[in-house]
Amino acid sequence: MIRSILSVVVPCYNEEDGVRELHRRVSAVCQGCVGKAYELILVNDGSSDATWKIMRELAGVDKHVVAVNLSRNHGHQLALSAGLQLCRGERIFILDADLQDPPELLPIMMERMDDGCDVVFGQRLKREGETAFKKASAFTFYRLLNRMVDIDIPRDTGDFRLMSRRAVDILNRMPEHHRFIRGMVSWIGMRQEAVPYERAARFAGETKYPLSKMIRFAIDAITGFSVRPLRMASYLGIFFGIATLLLMAYVLVHYFLGHTVEGWTSLAVIILALGSVQLFVAGVMGEYLGRLYMQSKGRPLFVIQEVVCSNELVHEASHVSSKVSAS
Ligand code: UDP
Ligand code: MG
Repeated sequence: MIRSILSVVVPCYNEEDGVRELHRRVSAVCQGCVGKAYELILVNDGSSDATWKIMRELAGVDKHVVAVNLSRNHGHQLALSAGLQLCRGERIFILDADLQDPPELLPIMMERMDDGCDVVFGQRLKREGETAFKKASAFTFYRLLNRMVDIDIPRDTGDFRLMSRRAVDILNRMPEHHRFIRGMVSWIGMRQEAVPYERAARFAGETKYPLSKMIRFAIDAITGFSVRPLRMASYLGIFFGIATLLLMAYVLVHYFLGHTVEGWTSLAVIILALGSVQLFVAGVMGEYLGRLYMQSKGRPLFVIQEVVCSNELVHEASHVSSKVSAS
């Protein structure tokens, strides 16, 4: 199979207002960098707007475009994984559809890769056009994550990056369902370097990461890379064991002094505190158990419904499905 030199992979969910501009800017950058040897893989993650229609049109007029339609909304990380499974380039450039991450950084990233890096990732210096809450939560999340996990996941880094074929091949072999791709790439190791940049505001549309998705993503990140939360059960056990000893001493003293009737408030507080701690610990265990359960089903990570591409060299849907179910 002929490999194009560069694959650009972009997951898109309800991005109808931005996808043409994305195509224009990415095409200009790729042509400047590698001439014609590139493919642009646009993955439609079950959008409910006109995103897929526009993608099909683009694939019809530009043979560099490979439009991939997932069967439903699978979420950002799985849509990206689908694109990474399909792409054929020797180098793979990942970016978001909203143009918050400038494709114009590609030449700099390519140079770094020429110097021998396997992964060149964009590191955000500043974030434009995002709410103070989003910035604060992202800031706290990356720092908390680094305290919890055992590998070094770079801070303030999204999935915006250039990766070598061998790094993507390793990533594609990781079968986990709850994917935190930037962490999985860090896990691979090899030479990875940062290119600092200022993150722009969205070109169009709204963020597709509301608070509920952000929380789920953060839990995936922590549970995917650390079992430290499970250990918390033991720490809490020790803490409450010591507290109980102190309380017993206090209760006994009061017993011998004859003040045995008081204490309803403290009793109620102790019961509530212990009850909530136990529920919390059970919840943490449930998170891990649930993930183990979902993983044990061995389902494919995503389902591709259709691939549209005017370049006949590529991507038959049947080939895709077999590859997918094998993953
Ligand atoms: N996205 C996706 N599926 C989803 C949610 C988001 O493919 O379920 C895509 C989205 O179209 C965008 C990228 O993932 O290209 C990042 O999403 P977004 O820009 O909304 O996240 P933010 O930059 O606000 O964190
Ligand atoms: Mg964005």
